[in-house]
Order: sequence, then C-alpha cells, then structure tokens
Amino acid sequence: MNDAMQVYLSAWPTVWAMDTARYLVGATLMATILALFWKAGLARRKLQARDATGADRRREILASLRTAFIFSLLGAIVAVGDHQGWITIYKGFQKVGPLYLVGSLALMLVAHDTYFYWVHRAMHHRRLFALFHRTHHLSRTPTPWAAYSFAVPEAIVHAAFVPLFLLFVPMHGLGLLAFGIVQILRNVMGHAGAEVHSAAFGPGRWLGWNNTTTHHDLHHETGRTNYGLYFRFWDKLMGTEHPDYCAKFEAIVAPEAKTTSPAIAGRVLAPAIAAIAVAGALLIAADPARADEGPAGRWATPGVAAIVELAPCNDTSGLCGTIRWLWEATDEKGRPRLDTQNADATLRARPLVGLSILSGLAPAAGGSWAGRIYNPEDGQTYRATLRRVGNDTLMIEGCVLFICQKQVWRSASALTAALR
Ligand SMILES: [Zn+2]
Ligand SMILES: [Zn+2]
Repeated sequence: MNDAMQVYLSAWPTVWAMDTARYLVGATLMATILALFWKAGLARRKLQARDATGADRRREILASLRTAFIFSLLGAIVAVGDHQGWITIYKGFQKVGPLYLVGSLALMLVAHDTYFYWVHRAMHHRRLFALFHRTHHLSRTPTPWAAYSFAVPEAIVHAAFVPLFLLFVPMHGLGLLAFGIVQILRNVMGHAGAEVHSAAFGPGRWLGWNNTTTHHDLHHETGRTNYGLYFRFWDKLMGTEHPDYCAKFEAIVAPEAKTTSPAIAGRVLAPAIAAIAVAGALLIAADPARADEGPAGRWATPGVAAIVELAPCNDTSGLCGTIRWLWEATDEKGRPRLDTQNADATLRARPLVGLSILSGLAPAAGGSWAGRIYNPEDGQTYRATLRRVGNDTLMIEGCVLFICQKQVWRSASALTAALR
C-alpha cells in the first residue's frame, strides 16, 4: 500500500467523525434554540404557514448523514494533499499571524459564497435540477436538519470546494476549523424555518449584507431567487434577489423593535464565537513552539547505529529529524551509504547522513508527539509516535531505522557524559 493511501485511510475516520458531528451538533443546537425560544417569540417569526412533517425531518437527516459521509471521502484527500505538499495547512502559531488567520478565513467565506452561488444557479438549470438539486428542494418548508440534505451528485459538488480553495490559498488549521463552524451555523440558521437573525441583519442595517433565514426560506418556498449562501452580494449584482425579501424580513422582525424580545442571532453567534475562541486557545496550547518538554535534541538509536537530530523544521511547522551520524557511514568499498531502497529512483543517490527521516512531528495526545518517519532500510514511510521519558530516553513507536515496532532512543548527551 503506498504512502498516500496510508495517509488517506488513517485520516478518513477522523474526517468522517468530524463532518458528521458538525452536522449533528449544528442542527441539534438550532433545533434546541427553536424549541426553547418558540413561545418566547420565535413562533411569531415563523416564515411559512405550512409545517414540516416528521417524514420531512427523517428524509433530511438521512440525506444529511449521507452527505457528511461523502464530504469525508473528499475531505480526507485534503490530508493527503497536505502530506504530499500539494497544499499547505499551517499548524501552530509560528507561521501565520492573527491578521492572516482572519484575512484568509474572510477570503474563504467570500470564495465559498461565490462558488455556492454559481453552482447553485447551475443546478437550477432544467437539465441539471433533477439529478443534482431536487433532493434539497424536497424540503419546501426546511428545518435545521435540511442543512446537508443533498443528493449524492450535489454533495460531491459542495465537497469539492475546500480542496479546490486550498490549492490556491494556504490556510491555518484553525482557520479551516472556524470555516467549518461558521459554515454549519449559517447553514442551520438559513434552514431554521423561523427568522433567527436580529433586526440588525435587516437590509440597510449594519449587518444587512448577510443573508438571513427569510432570505433562504424564500428560496425554498418559491424556487428561482435568492441563490446566495452567506451574503447578498451576488443576488443583488445578478438581479436574482426575491423582490419581496426586504419587506418580508422587516415585517417579520418588526415587533422586536417595539418589545424587548431577545436578539436570537446574538444567542446563536455568541456560543459559536466562544467555541472558536476555545478551539483557538487549545490550538495555541498545543503549539509545538510553546511546548518546552518536547523531543528536540540529538538522539542515539539502539546500538548507536545512528545519531538523529530533532529540531524545528525548515519549511513547515513542527519538528523534523535528520540523520547526523552513522556507525556504518560507508559501505565495504568505503563509499558513503546512500538511500538505495527509496521507492523513488531519483532519490536513491542521496547520502544517508544528512537525510531527513522524521517530519511534521506535532504534539499529540498524552504528551506524545506524532509525525511521519522514513525508514531507509525498506524505503517506506510510516506513522511514528514519540514520547520523551525523563531527560535521557525517547520511546518510539512505529517502524524506524533498522527495527520495527517499539524502540528506545537515548539522548546523545547521556552517551557523551558516559564517555567522559
Ligand atoms: Zn436551490
Ligand atoms: Zn436550502
């Protein structure tokens, strides 16, 4: 099994779990908010006279779970792209500042809105509608559960956006996480069935360039208008906004101006922003540059067959490991030992000394570090987990230089101390 396939298969279960959890958490959050605030004000913000049925919800949930599965099949390709160097996903905080983080997220949302608007319009073409988009429009009165209620071909079209975008714009892992959260929240808000945005989202108000529940609900109720996802820009520019949108939104939120009814969007967005902040804090805490008890340093492999130096990587985040010294640095004819087992014939002339064999080591669960290790013995790359035990010992799991499975490395300074 080749390396890319291994990365794909090991990334996929996590991606699937995250895509599924994101949908379930987002839709459950919105359904709970609707239930909790229904009598307190959301009932009079209901957008259609018709009620969604239990059968509607069941269909929406099953189709959405299928979509999360399809998202993960394409999403795991992102992990392969990152590993192969086709795309760049920054980890830790040493590579990008907060400005880049916020700027790239904003750019990703605008790009996604543009992508969505045009593929959505295309899918409404009579030749494409039945195959791609009819499933989503079976929800004439949408509920939050309709967020990912797509036919398989439509799910594939939507899943393609993130990998395509990453080909052009490097993103930070935290930015991608925030994108996923914003995306599902705006999605379940658009399908809430009752207007959950505050009057501040009204046309002409300071947040009026955003779509609202009324905006997307009108799309489900009437079809051929309001194709946008997050923003109104494209619908306004292309003249596809529903002519009654502004009046309908103002009418539905009007009582709020006169009473002290809660601004629901605040109640939805505040937890989302808090979640992003917590996730950010966790990522900063996990930042390899901040972790002081990492495995950096020089280490001797068993039998002092090799000395490997672990240090911050040159071109990516995390730690990388380089062979600095070999017990048998030359072959029987006195020539430097080369990377002769490499699957890539063009790399076989590389000397082993100076070769980078550990890459992308980042903090993982329980104080361990996880990354990739290249084994020159068989020319294969494996997953590796490293755990520092005290000052002098590094436990390695995986397949490493000369031996597979578990190995103990000793710090080179402990060896030199013993030689003195
Ligand atoms: Zn549509
Ligand atoms: Zn929809």
